[in-house]
Formats: sequence, structure tokens, C-alpha cells
Amino acid sequence: MTTLAERYRAVQDRIDAAAVAAGRDPKDVTLIVVSKFHPAQLVLDLIDLGARDFGENKDQEAGPKSVAVADSLVLAGKPVEHRWHFVGQLQSNKVKSVLRYASAIHSLDRESLLTALAKETAKLQEAKAAAGEAPLTPIDVFIELNLTDDPGRGGIVPANVQEFAQQVLAVPGLNLMGVMGVASLNSPSDSSIAERDFESIQKASFAVRELKPEAKFISAGMSGDFETALNFGATHLRIGTAITGERAY
Ligand SMILES: *Cc1c(COP(=O)(O)O)cnc(C)c1O
Repeated sequence: MTTLAERYRAVQDRIDAAAVAAGRDPKDVTLIVVSKFHPAQLVLDLIDLGARDFGENKDQEAGPKSVAVADSLVLAGKPVEHRWHFVGQLQSNKVKSVLRYASAIHSLDRESLLTALAKETAKLQEAKAAAGEAPLTPIDVFIELNLTDDPGRGGIVPANVQEFAQQVLAVPGLNLMGVMGVASLNSPSDSSIAERDFESIQKASFAVRELKPEAKFISAGMSGDFETALNFGATHLRIGTAITGERAY
């Protein structure tokens, strides 16, 4: 049995080694620990180990967990700054709630969600202005890509990414960070499937950068494929089980 500290350390070492091997600076890589299905205590333990970025995929779980973590930190007298990344499919009626705690949404995958985000961020902005408060810090968003041949699946088809990015850039409450993708699993006989997907993600990233050079970030790479993702420019790794251990569903 390994401990959480050992797994966290081991993943960090692997990230550093893979980044260096890819000719990249490990400092340019953000490790997001996906804490879904794990209790607030695991997040607190990881904060003690130095982790600052956490990923969740359900508002019903992330909302209370983010409050529990913040409360515990205050109670312990160590209000460490940390960030929540929303990485799962987001229903439009949950946007208002997610905006309370998330600093980034990695799963901007459709126009109706963009409309909901535009509406809710505008409302927050108005409320702040009315209260004489400082303007809203725009929320970071990544455009989630559909890397399958099935247009019915969630995500923006890479061919449409520039068009969609234009729409995102027109919303003042959003800060377009770049693109996000979940690569297909490699089959044991063919390790090139994930590579092909990471290559598509990287191409879409270059297309977005033609519109906004600063939107250069790539959210890609999970426990099983983050080293490959780093070879294709991933900057935000979303890693769960390799650090947390298996999830109890
Ligand atoms: C759960 C999840 C992850 C983490 O997956 P692991 O295989 O446990 O590392 C990453 N990204 C998304 C979108 C997820 O839902």
C-alpha cells in the first residue's frame, strides 16, 4: 500500500520528468487533482502536501465540498488559497451555483451553456457594480472538444472551434484559457489512438491562438495518459486515481 503523500509525490516526479523530456519547463504545467467521489478531508490532506488545484465534475458534490474545505481551513487558522476546476458536464441550471466556487470551467461544450454563463456573469457583474464593489474577475474557461466521429456527443467539433471561440471572446465575464479534451483510451494493440486525439487537441489550440494568443492553455491528460499529453503541449493535467487511489462509486 502506498500513502497519499507517496502517490502525490510520485505523480509530480513523473510530470517533471515527462515535461523535461518534452523540452518543457515543469513550472508551466498545472496539476489539478481530481477529487470527485472523495471526501473534503482528502482535499485538506492534499492541501497540506502542497496541492492547490482541485477538479470536480458534479455541482451537487463540489458545492458542499468546497464549503467544507474552506470552513475547515478557516477553523484551523490556515486559510490557504486554493482553486476549484469544474471538469464535468455542466447543466445550464447549475451555472449560478458553480460560479460561487469555481475559478475555472473546463467543460464549455455547447452554445446553450455559453449563453447561461454570459447571463449569470452579467448578473454578478451588475450586482457588484450596484454594491460599489470591485469588478468581477472573469472566470477561466476552456472549450471542450468533441474528438469522436459522433457529432451527437458533447463538445465542440474541432472544425468549429474558431467560430465558437469568437463567441466566447465576446462575453466579458469569461476569460478564454484554451481548449480541453479527453483522449480515447489506447487499445493494447494500438497506442496511437490517444496520440491522434492529443494531436487534434493541439491543432485546435493553435486555431484558437490565432484569435487570442494568450488562450494558449491545453487541459488534457489524466492518470492513464498524462505523459503522452505532455508531449502534445498539455498545460493543465487533470489527474485523479493515480493520486487519490480508486474511487468508491
Ligand atoms: C474523473 C476525471 C478525470 C480524472 O481521471 P483519472 O483517470 O482518475 O485520472 C479527468 N478528467 C475528467 C473530465 C474527469 O471526469
